[in-house]
Amino acid sequence: MAAPFQPVPLSAFQIFAGRPFIISGPCGVESEEQIFAIAKELKKLRVHLLRGGIWKPRTRPDSFQGIGSVGLTLLKNAGKAFDIPVTVEVANPKHVEEALKAGIDFLWIGARTTVNPFLVQEIANSLRGVDIPVMVKNPVNPDLDLWIGALERLNRIGVKKLIAIHRGFSISDNSRYRNSPNWQIPIELKRRFPDLPLICDPSHISGTSKLVPTIAQYAMDLNYDGLMIETHTDPEHALSDREQQLTPKELKILLENLVIRNPSVDDLFLKNLLVELRSRIDEVDERILSLMSERMAIARDIGQYKRVHNMTILQVERWDEILRTRLQSGEIKELDREFIIQLYAIIHDESIRQQTYDESKSEKKYKSEYSKLKTS
Ligand code: PEP
Ligand code: MN
Repeated sequence: MAAPFQPVPLSAFQIFAGRPFIISGPCGVESEEQIFAIAKELKKLRVHLLRGGIWKPRTRPDSFQGIGSVGLTLLKNAGKAFDIPVTVEVANPKHVEEALKAGIDFLWIGARTTVNPFLVQEIANSLRGVDIPVMVKNPVNPDLDLWIGALERLNRIGVKKLIAIHRGFSISDNSRYRNSPNWQIPIELKRRFPDLPLICDPSHISGTSKLVPTIAQYAMDLNYDGLMIETHTDPEHALSDREQQLTPKELKILLENLVIRNPSVDDLFLKNLLVELRSRIDEVDERILSLMSERMAIARDIGQYKRVHNMTILQVERWDEILRTRLQSGEIKELDREFIIQLYAIIHDESIRQQTYDESKSEKKYKSEYSKLKTS
């Protein structure tokens, strides 16, 4: 058994200058002029790390694929000119080799690479004996173990300075975001590895520049260590991710308005108040769980009655009615519409599972119970 993954906190990285750690720069390096202009503005905003994609993983082959290796020198020179360390996305050992040769300071692994353990392992192998910080974006699919696995592969090779970047997940039914944040996944990562530096990429979660400040603030309120935000001096004409890039001026406003709160406070009254409110939350959760248990027991009964009468488990009209009425009721109770949709999707899935798998009561028993009910 290899030693368990023990992350190094961001405060131990030479570059760290206190929360929030800010990484910014264009989606892609496009030209010398572009990257120098952006670096110049970002330096004024005291951005800690300049990002710029050189090799861009694009969904369609006709999209801008990045300017390739020549961009490495441009990025590095822009970083040197304005005294900002630089970072680039690598997706294979060849990229790693070139990036190291160019003196790139941090590497990042993109969401489309994190999904592939073969590639991650190859990248890890190419980093043996190299002391460079590596940032790992979450995989495109909401799989926490795959994300942790990528971090572990790098760690086992000897990469010590690791950072997790939360950039959201591709989920088809979520309309508000380009990539659904599924906050519970990074929160669970933080619970399992409290020291692991965690950074949010609100640009790829949002997909639109308007949403970026809200997501950035939300991440800081969840005590993330920092943010990776795409900026471009002329977003409208950017060769990739046009809608989501901020101008340096917009980034300035975002950073000025960002409220950095403390994870804990010394105020005794507040501490006691929180204890009191949390105990009320505990009670409410207990009630929710009892109600869920009751709901599932009823679902199992329904399942058995359907089975003995040869009915399908799923009745679409009923599901439609549930969703419609719960949305109406949720609206009156001022609950978020998407929250209700997601909540009922999970509840309904579980009800179906319960209806399908319960073998605790025999068919015979249900048949006799049914006859009794019918005649009473
Ligand atoms: C990017 O940062 O430009 C990028 C391609 O990100 P992701 O891997 O999150 O899609
Ligand atoms: Mn991008």
